[in-house]
Amino acid sequence: MAFTLYSLIQTAILCTNAIAVLHEERFLSKIGWGADQGIGGFGDEPGIKAQLLNLIRSVRTVMRVPLIIVNSPQVHTTFAFAMATRRALKAVLIDLSGTLHVEDAAVPGAQEALARLRSAPVAVKFVTNTTKECKRNLLERLRKLNFDIQEQEIFTSLTAARNLLEQRKVRPLLLVEDSALEDFSGIDTSEPNAVVIGLSPEHFNYQMLNKAFRLMLDGAPLIAIHKARYYKRKDGLALGPGPFVTGLEYATDTKATVVGKPERTFFLEALRDLGCSPDEAIMIGDDARDDVGGAQNSGMQGILVRTGKYRVGDEGKISPPPYFTCESFPQAVDHILHTLLKSD
Ligand SMILES: [Mg+2]
Repeated sequence: MAFTLYSLIQTAILCTNAIAVLHEERFLSKIGWGADQGIGGFGDEPGIKAQLLNLIRSVRTVMRVPLIIVNSPQVHTTFAFAMATRRALKAVLIDLSGTLHVEDAAVPGAQEALARLRSAPVAVKFVTNTTKECKRNLLERLRKLNFDIQEQEIFTSLTAARNLLEQRKVRPLLLVEDSALEDFSGIDTSEPNAVVIGLSPEHFNYQMLNKAFRLMLDGAPLIAIHKARYYKRKDGLALGPGPFVTGLEYATDTKATVVGKPERTFFLEALRDLGCSPDEAIMIGDDARDDVGGAQNSGMQGILVRTGKYRVGDEGKISPPPYFTCESFPQAVDHILHTLLKSD
């Protein structure tokens, strides 16, 4: 019997997004499902019922989905198994800095783990909030560290900012490092009527910030490449663009349009050419708020790695908490391969 039930439930999980195990059709309608979404009628035998519930609970634990059990006062044997099952995993979004590398050092085992992930039937994309480096520089750095990555697989907050400038047809004052300017080539910056701000230690002086402030007072919108509070460098944590964006917002009593992580539009745009929906994707990153929180708020699952900027207790700073937290990128890949993509 156990084998039969197990096979039945496994088949149902593969075929439907929602499964109910119950006696009566009216309970299906009660939870908003059609009769074809139910399997059931297993009788009132306590052993079978217990066996089935245990099985449901273990499947639920593995797949991390909510379980709803409906008991009927009229029919004692009735219970329902509600699985908002996720669709099959089709894409993995991976953060770069702090997740695959910290400056010029790769996270141990990350290259080999990426190769293992690539052998699985999922699309891979690298999503980064970098504001200091153009895509070409990022790619060079990653290739020097022996990562197998193609330029078209990288989606950055600079790309997202450029897309927004083109949409709005504005001329920006670019408060970004010179090394990031390449990603804005061809954009008209004469007589600026917008401000783009990234992390720009070379330009974050009073004169430049005041120039941005005055443009904003004249109505120029502020576009923030991202708003991270801080990031990890070899010599320790360092201020991100967030405090400077917030300073300009405060001075002008306006709100910036943020284009990078954790914005929902950033994640959706990153998925756009992969042909999958957020519930078919998972994000791996070292930033609980921007990587994991942002992805989970966009409908994906999120894995938090304890490398890069991670600090003890970060997993408790977002609600809901990360789907999974682990030591580093290789363990995240193992989890995906052995749990989420397990075929048996
Ligand atoms: Mg990171």
